[in-house]
Amino acid sequence: MAKSKKFLKLAFISLLTVAMLAACGTNAEKTNGGGNEGAKNALETIKKRDKIIFGVKNDTRLFGLKNPSTGEVEGFDIDIAKALAKQILGDESKVEFKEVTSKTRIPLLQKGDIDAIIATMTITEERKKEVDFTDVYFKAGQSLLVKKDSPIKGLKDLKKGTTVLAVKGSTSSQNIREKAPEAKVLEFENYAEAFTALKSGQGDALTTDNAILYGMADEDPSYHIVGGTFTDEPYGIAVRKGEKELLDALNKALKTIKSNGEYDKIYKKWIKKDFSK
Ligand code: GLU
Repeated sequence: MAKSKKFLKLAFISLLTVAMLAACGTNAEKTNGGGNEGAKNALETIKKRDKIIFGVKNDTRLFGLKNPSTGEVEGFDIDIAKALAKQILGDESKVEFKEVTSKTRIPLLQKGDIDAIIATMTITEERKKEVDFTDVYFKAGQSLLVKKDSPIKGLKDLKKGTTVLAVKGSTSSQNIREKAPEAKVLEFENYAEAFTALKSGQGDALTTDNAILYGMADEDPSYHIVGGTFTDEPYGIAVRKGEKELLDALNKALKTIKSNGEYDKIYKKWIKKDFSK
C-alpha cells in the first residue's frame, strides 16, 4: 500500500515536471515572435515568417510618424526598414511596424514583440549591456528647441527657474541633467506630448536630437533650434543580445543600400539638412 502511494506521488511529480517544461517551451516561442517552429535564432524565425517586425516611432516627424489619413507610418526609419527587408527577404513589403516609444522600445524587444528597433535610437555603452546594435545608420546630436522670441539662446541660458521638456527613456533626458544641472526637467511619454507641452507653455525649451527638433520646427515655424549640438547621437538598429545572424544580415543589408544609392535617396527624401557634421 505504502509502495503504491509512493509510486503515485512520483508519477504525479513527473507529470508536473513535463507540464512545466511544456509551458516554458510556449514561452520561449513567444519571445521569438511566434511562428518559429524549429527556428534556431531570430533570423530564421524572420525567414520562416517571411516578415520582419520592426519597432518604430509613430509620433516623430521625419523618422516615424503615423499619417492619420492612411493609417501608415512614414519617415526615414520606416523607409530604411523597408529597404532592409527588401535586401533580406526580397521584398520591401515584407515588414510589420509596431509602435514603440523611447521608454518601451527595449522592453518590447526583450519580450519578443518585435525583432528589431529602428526608432531614432542612439548607440550607447549603457544600452549595449541590454541589446546589440548594428553599424551607425544616422548621425544626430542633441540640441534645444525654443520659441523664436525666447531669451534662451543655448545651454548656458538654462539657469535656475527654467524648465526643459524631454522624453522618458531618452538619452536627451539623461544628458540635459548633466549639461544644465540647475534647470528643472519635465518628462513626457513621447515627442508629440512633449511638443504640445512646449506649445502650451509648460516649459522654456524642449531637448532631443537636432534631427527630431528640426521636424518640429518645420511643422511650426514659430519655433527654432538654438545653441548648436552638445552631444553625439549615432543611431543604430537594435536586436536582442546574441542574435548575431540577424545583426550580420542587417549590417550586410545596410552596406548594400549605402553602396547602391538607395540609402542616399531615402536620406534626401526626408532629411533636408545635413546633420552629420
Ligand atoms: N536618440 C536619442 C535616444 O536614443 C533621443 C531620441 C529618442 O528618444 O529616441 O534616446
